[in-house]
Amino acid sequence: MSMERDDECPNCGEVTFYRAASTTLHLGEKVKWHCPNCDYGFVQIDGIDTNAIEA
Ligand SMILES: [Zn+2]
Repeated sequence: MSMERDDECPNCGEVTFYRAASTTLHLGEKVKWHCPNCDYGFVQIDGIDTNAIEA
């Protein structure tokens, strides 16, 4: 999987997120994405976005 993802940051408008970490859970792969321009981040589990979190 890519280490980058095109998605607009709702906080600062940056359009590329970077993969900060990933873990494999029983639910699937948990991936933490982080905006390089501010502190916004979110977690994706098995391809599904979850609520935004503090990165
Ligand atoms: Zn941002």
